[in-house]
Amino acid sequence: MPRVVFLGPPGAGKGTQAKSLAKDLGIPHLSTGDLLREAVREKTSLGEEADVYIRAGRLVPDALVLRILKERLARPDAQPGALFDGYPRNLAQARELTGFAPVDRVISFVIPEPILLERLTQRWNCPKCGTLYNLATRPPKQTGVCDLDGTTLVQRSDDRIDAVRMRLLVYAEQTAPLLEHYRMLGILTPIDATGTPEQVGHRIRTALEHAP
Ligand code: AMP
Repeated sequence: MPRVVFLGPPGAGKGTQAKSLAKDLGIPHLSTGDLLREAVREKTSLGEEADVYIRAGRLVPDALVLRILKERLARPDAQPGALFDGYPRNLAQARELTGFAPVDRVISFVIPEPILLERLTQRWNCPKCGTLYNLATRPPKQTGVCDLDGTTLVQRSDDRIDAVRMRLLVYAEQTAPLLEHYRMLGILTPIDATGTPEQVGHRIRTALEHAP
């Protein structure tokens, strides 16, 4: 199985889609955001260094992210392929990735900014199983509690409105140029990321089936 990158602004639904697609394809879901948050929770020195940037909605320095990504990629389950979610985030990271794990296909999530703002500020997740909820579109059955395991839901430290605005700005300035980079390489497939998770999931699967 191939290496696929999910590219898109924060709140576009990459995490939700990546979890289900990775399971279907039998490849690991490799989210640098999740790996960094895990390091923060475990209070490793890398996590403590990264925490300041994450809370501010800024990019963590390339060298730190690369270290955590390479460690994860070296594990046996990532040998057949991987679904990258949140990496690369700038041109330097994209060039780096081409060097050690060339990408076969990049799915770009296309979505208007007002929808992103609404999705980001309404989202909660289960710290135990990782299930994502949205108070507007996918609320838990019981307020504040995970449907699957009853754990109390939490909000991400960077889903506050000021950090959200910074993340959108960082995306526009540093990550959006990757669209042109991958388009030039002939491996970019844009998909409409509005609608329900099922609709978006269907578009992604169709796009991957028809990719050259
Ligand atoms: P995400 O969960 O992908 O939205 O990432 C959350 C935060 O983790 C970002 O706002 C950055 O602070 C940091 N982060 C995740 N991936 C990267 C990356 N590839 N490069 C730099 N920072 C990252």
